[in-house]
Amino acid sequence: MFVRGLVMAGMAAVLLPAPSAHAAAKVDCAKVKCLALTFDDGPGASTGTLLSTLRKSGAKATFFLMGKHVESRPTLVKRMAAEGHEIGNHTWSHPSLTTLFDEEITQELRTTQEAVKKVTGRAPKLFRPPYGNTDDRVAALAGDEGMAQVLWTGTTLDWKLRDQKKIRAAVLKLARRDGVILMHDVVPQTVQVMPTLIKDLRKRGYHLVTVSALLKGRTLEPGETYP
Ligand SMILES: [Zn+2]
Repeated sequence: MFVRGLVMAGMAAVLLPAPSAHAAAKVDCAKVKCLALTFDDGPGASTGTLLSTLRKSGAKATFFLMGKHVESRPTLVKRMAAEGHEIGNHTWSHPSLTTLFDEEITQELRTTQEAVKKVTGRAPKLFRPPYGNTDDRVAALAGDEGMAQVLWTGTTLDWKLRDQKKIRAAVLKLARRDGVILMHDVVPQTVQVMPTLIKDLRKRGYHLVTVSALLKGRTLEPGETYP
């Protein structure tokens, strides 16, 4: 295993193009090492700065937005879509969905779908439950609204760390091929460390892509959970 891994890593270095700003648009995650950075709870006051960082580096990300923030910051949402990022639904007001009645869950999801569609022309296909609190009922109701549920492979706890060095270390420790990293663009330190962190990840061979790009051409079914 160890030897084979080395051989494959060696081949990859020879055969595959190095990650670069220009390679981000047409990345084939079946062939190269991909990682999805995801940002929840926005758009917030620092999201514009994050979008500029992503644009400069050519990295793509996935944003799980709260409907009420979509309503108050539509320009940022329009920009996300225009710059090739993926937009997901993170409910209107961030409740723990498992404690709500079906009608309340649907209301949280549907109002957010409508807010995003009003701004970008397209309702999200992805949904992430606040606090990760979910069950079969929540997943099925999200499916009824046309969305698959996206969780994560690694959570940075950036909202608790609030420290650039610690957030950077957490992401580098959690990064792995086809991983989905959970962060928050409403945490200023996360946004501040991102230029450095993107360089770190690129040095380690990662192509930074949207969640859907990780699927290598497959489409998530409504109600399905990934990863
Ligand atoms: Zn959240």
